[in-house]
Amino acid sequence: MALGNLDEIYRDDVILDHRRNPRNAARLKDADIAADGVNPFCGDEIHLQMRLDDGGRVAEVGFQGEGCSINQATGSMLSEAIKGLTLPQVEALSAKFHEMMQGPEPPDEMLTALGDLGSLSKVRDFPVRIKCALLAWSTLEDGVAAGRG
Ligand code: ZN
Repeated sequence: MALGNLDEIYRDDVILDHRRNPRNAARLKDADIAADGVNPFCGDEIHLQMRLDDGGRVAEVGFQGEGCSINQATGSMLSEAIKGLTLPQVEALSAKFHEMMQGPEPPDEMLTALGDLGSLSKVRDFPVRIKCALLAWSTLEDGVAAGRG
Protein backbone atom coordinates (compact mmCIF):
# COMPACT_ATOMS: atom_id res chain seq x y z
CA MET A 1 0.00 0.00 0.00
CA ALA A 2 1.32 3.42 -0.91
CA LEU A 3 1.62 5.61 2.14
CA GLY A 4 0.25 8.91 1.01
CA ASN A 5 0.45 12.24 2.70
CA LEU A 6 -2.74 13.44 4.36
CA ASP A 7 -1.98 16.97 3.11
CA GLU A 8 -2.57 15.66 -0.38
CA ILE A 9 -6.20 15.09 0.53
CA TYR A 10 -6.60 18.50 2.09
CA ARG A 11 -5.06 20.08 -1.01
CA ASP A 12 -7.27 18.19 -3.43
CA ASP A 13 -9.16 20.85 -5.43
CA VAL A 14 -12.52 19.08 -5.32
CA ILE A 15 -12.36 18.28 -1.60
CA LEU A 16 -11.10 21.77 -0.78
CA ASP A 17 -13.92 23.35 -2.75
CA HIS A 18 -16.61 21.38 -0.92
CA ARG A 19 -14.91 22.09 2.39
CA ARG A 20 -14.84 25.83 1.75
CA ASN A 21 -18.18 26.12 -0.01
CA PRO A 22 -20.41 23.43 1.45
CA ARG A 23 -23.47 22.74 -0.72
CA ASN A 24 -27.01 22.67 0.64
CA ALA A 25 -25.80 23.95 4.01
CA ALA A 26 -29.10 25.50 5.10
CA ARG A 27 -31.10 23.46 7.59
CA LEU A 28 -34.30 22.21 5.96
CA LYS A 29 -37.56 22.91 7.67
CA ASP A 30 -40.42 20.48 7.02
CA ALA A 31 -38.04 17.62 6.32
CA ASP A 32 -39.52 14.19 5.61
CA ILE A 33 -36.34 12.52 6.78
CA ALA A 34 -33.83 13.83 9.31
CA ALA A 35 -30.84 12.05 10.79
CA ASP A 36 -27.81 12.93 12.89
CA GLY A 37 -24.52 11.10 13.21
CA VAL A 38 -21.47 11.46 15.44
CA ASN A 39 -17.98 10.02 15.22
CA PRO A 40 -16.34 10.66 18.61
CA PHE A 41 -12.96 9.54 17.23
CA CYS A 42 -12.31 12.93 15.65
CA GLY A 43 -15.28 15.00 16.74
CA ASP A 44 -17.16 14.67 13.45
CA GLU A 45 -20.85 15.43 13.36
CA ILE A 46 -23.34 15.21 10.52
CA HIS A 47 -26.86 16.53 10.43
CA LEU A 48 -28.96 15.65 7.39
CA GLN A 49 -32.45 16.62 6.32
CA MET A 50 -34.31 15.54 3.19
CA ARG A 51 -37.58 16.51 1.62
CA LEU A 52 -39.16 14.07 -0.83
CA ASP A 53 -41.39 14.99 -3.75
CA ASP A 54 -44.67 13.22 -4.61
CA GLY A 55 -42.75 10.65 -6.62
CA GLY A 56 -40.63 9.73 -3.61
CA ARG A 57 -37.51 11.39 -4.99
CA VAL A 58 -35.16 13.53 -2.93
CA ALA A 59 -36.24 17.06 -3.79
CA GLU A 60 -34.28 19.05 -1.23
CA VAL A 61 -31.37 18.33 1.07
CA GLY A 62 -29.98 20.12 4.08
CA PHE A 63 -26.56 19.16 5.45
CA GLN A 64 -24.60 20.62 8.34
CA GLY A 65 -21.24 19.14 9.25
CA GLU A 66 -18.70 19.74 11.97
CA GLY A 67 -15.28 18.27 12.49
CA CYS A 68 -12.63 17.32 10.00
CA SER A 69 -12.41 18.31 6.34
CA ILE A 70 -13.05 14.81 5.06
CA ASN A 71 -16.32 14.60 6.98
CA GLN A 72 -17.52 18.02 5.88
CA ALA A 73 -16.51 17.60 2.23
CA THR A 74 -18.19 14.18 2.08
CA GLY A 75 -21.43 15.57 3.50
CA SER A 76 -21.44 18.35 0.93
CA MET A 77 -20.78 15.95 -1.96
CA LEU A 78 -23.43 13.57 -0.70
CA SER A 79 -26.01 16.35 -0.46
CA GLU A 80 -25.55 17.06 -4.16
CA ALA A 81 -25.31 13.45 -5.27
CA ILE A 82 -28.60 12.26 -3.78
CA LYS A 83 -30.82 14.98 -5.22
CA GLY A 84 -33.39 13.55 -7.61
CA LEU A 85 -32.83 9.96 -6.47
CA THR A 86 -35.44 7.60 -5.05
CA LEU A 87 -34.66 6.07 -1.66
CA PRO A 88 -33.63 2.71 -3.19
CA GLN A 89 -31.31 4.64 -5.52
CA VAL A 90 -29.90 6.51 -2.51
CA GLU A 91 -29.17 3.18 -0.83
CA ALA A 92 -27.57 1.83 -4.02
CA LEU A 93 -25.33 4.91 -4.21
CA SER A 94 -24.34 4.45 -0.58
CA ALA A 95 -23.43 0.82 -1.27
CA LYS A 96 -21.35 1.94 -4.25
CA PHE A 97 -19.55 4.50 -2.10
CA HIS A 98 -18.82 1.91 0.60
CA GLU A 99 -17.46 -0.40 -2.09
CA MET A 100 -15.17 2.37 -3.37
CA MET A 101 -13.83 3.03 0.14
CA GLN A 102 -13.59 -0.50 1.48
CA GLY A 103 -13.66 -2.88 -1.50
CA PRO A 104 -10.85 -3.80 -3.86
CA GLU A 105 -8.93 -0.98 -5.58
CA PRO A 106 -11.72 0.88 -7.44
CA PRO A 107 -11.45 1.03 -11.24
CA ASP A 108 -11.28 4.45 -12.91
CA GLU A 109 -14.75 3.99 -14.41
CA MET A 110 -16.20 3.70 -10.91
CA LEU A 111 -14.47 6.87 -9.78
CA THR A 112 -15.66 8.73 -12.87
CA ALA A 113 -19.23 7.51 -12.35
CA LEU A 114 -19.17 8.77 -8.76
CA GLY A 115 -18.21 12.29 -9.84
CA ASP A 116 -16.90 14.50 -7.03
CA LEU A 117 -17.31 11.61 -4.60
CA GLY A 118 -14.64 9.73 -6.54
CA SER A 119 -12.01 12.16 -5.25
CA LEU A 120 -12.52 10.65 -1.78
CA SER A 121 -11.01 7.35 -2.92
CA LYS A 122 -7.65 8.86 -1.87
CA VAL A 123 -8.78 8.51 1.73
CA ARG A 124 -8.33 4.73 1.28
CA ASP A 125 -4.62 5.32 1.95
CA PHE A 126 -5.51 6.42 5.51
CA PRO A 127 -7.52 3.58 7.03
CA VAL A 128 -8.28 5.40 10.28
CA ARG A 129 -9.83 8.27 8.32
CA ILE A 130 -12.14 6.11 6.20
CA LYS A 131 -14.71 6.43 8.98
CA CYS A 132 -14.69 10.19 8.39
CA ALA A 133 -15.84 9.63 4.80
CA LEU A 134 -18.42 7.03 5.81
CA LEU A 135 -20.15 8.92 8.64
CA ALA A 136 -22.39 10.98 6.33
CA TRP A 137 -23.42 7.81 4.48
CA SER A 138 -24.21 5.77 7.58
CA THR A 139 -26.20 8.75 8.88
CA LEU A 140 -28.05 8.89 5.58
CA GLU A 141 -28.81 5.17 5.69
CA ASP A 142 -30.11 5.48 9.26
CA GLY A 143 -32.40 8.28 8.12
CA VAL A 144 -33.70 6.34 5.12
CA ALA A 145 -34.33 3.26 7.26
CA ALA A 146 -36.16 5.30 9.90
CA GLY A 147 -38.09 7.17 7.19
CA ARG A 148 -39.51 3.88 6.00
CA GLY A 149 -40.91 3.41 9.50
ZN1 ZN B 1 -13.05 13.04 10.76
